Amino acid sequence: MPRFDAIVGEEQLKDKMRAISRSAPSHAYLLAGERRSGKTTLAKCFAAAIQCEGEGEKPCGKCMSCLQVEEGSHPDVIFLTHEKEETIGISDIRTGLNEDILLKPYRAKYKVYVIDDAQNMTVQAQNALLKTLEEPPSYAVIILVSNTVDAMLPTIQSRSVLLPVKPLPDEVIRNYLMNHMRVPDYRADVITAFARGNLGRACDLVGNEEFEELKSNAITMLKGISDTDLGTAYVDAVDIAAKYKENKNSFAQLTDLILFWYHDALIYKSTGRSEGLIFREEIQYIKKVAAEMSYEGFEAVFRAVKEAKEKLRFNVSAETVADLLLISLKESSQK
Ligand SMILES: [Zn+2]
Repeated sequence: MPRFDAIVGEEQLKDKMRAISRSAPSHAYLLAGERRSGKTTLAKCFAAAIQCEGEGEKPCGKCMSCLQVEEGSHPDVIFLTHEKEETIGISDIRTGLNEDILLKPYRAKYKVYVIDDAQNMTVQAQNALLKTLEEPPSYAVIILVSNTVDAMLPTIQSRSVLLPVKPLPDEVIRNYLMNHMRVPDYRADVITAFARGNLGRACDLVGNEEFEELKSNAITMLKGISDTDLGTAYVDAVDIAAKYKENKNSFAQLTDLILFWYHDALIYKSTGRSEGLIFREEIQYIKKVAAEMSYEGFEAVFRAVKEAKEKLRFNVSAETVADLLLISLKESSQK
């Protein structure tokens, strides 16, 4: 059973959960944070803490209750299941929660329900849940785990105590990658920048070959931009578009890499310092870009990347976006 101290970061949230588990919990909590931010682990730990029978720090991880939560066999900690994978429907809530909750706890003081992916509840399902939230039995604790707060009806939000999962500081992620996953520092920097405070996303990128390949393609392309002529840049654009046109996510990551690269160069240009740069291992090139480009050039690059991202969102083809972007990068590098 993960104990709170084994979960990285989220100190405030964990303190709040610890305090709740030592007092009388409310009937409903809305644990909200983006995908891969560790919400499900936190919810499980929170449920275990509420039910823990041990002394001292809760969850203790050792008592029968904690062990049963870990195994998924605790009779009074219920992880709501649903028939369809992508949606939680009204019948799932009716049978899995509204009817089940009327039966008193089997052994514990509380009956804790965890609804993971609560953002997938249909409006009808949420309205059915609302019936229970309006008049919950005294022993009921419902933990909704959702990607966004907004996915919940306002009437559900107002009856739940919000527990927001916040992005982790970069330093926490970087240290975790280096100390627990043995990622070398220069790679940890790039991954940390990409993870944007999400440890799950960071871990996904470690050893992800697709990402490594994308990164090395991007670096080759970026190194070449100031050296090649417009014609070559155009050929590169066609190449890149062909590679990533099926995968908007990769293309979006590519635009992020471009952004980080020029951001590094701009920082170097204005401070003359290489500490904290994401692409420290390419410092010779970063210095070159910093020396060759004007501040207007940087502004033009950031504008072009922003526009490229918008075009991708509006479903403009990858070929067109790559063309325009690379040509702007080329032009900006000469400004
Ligand atoms: Zn325990």
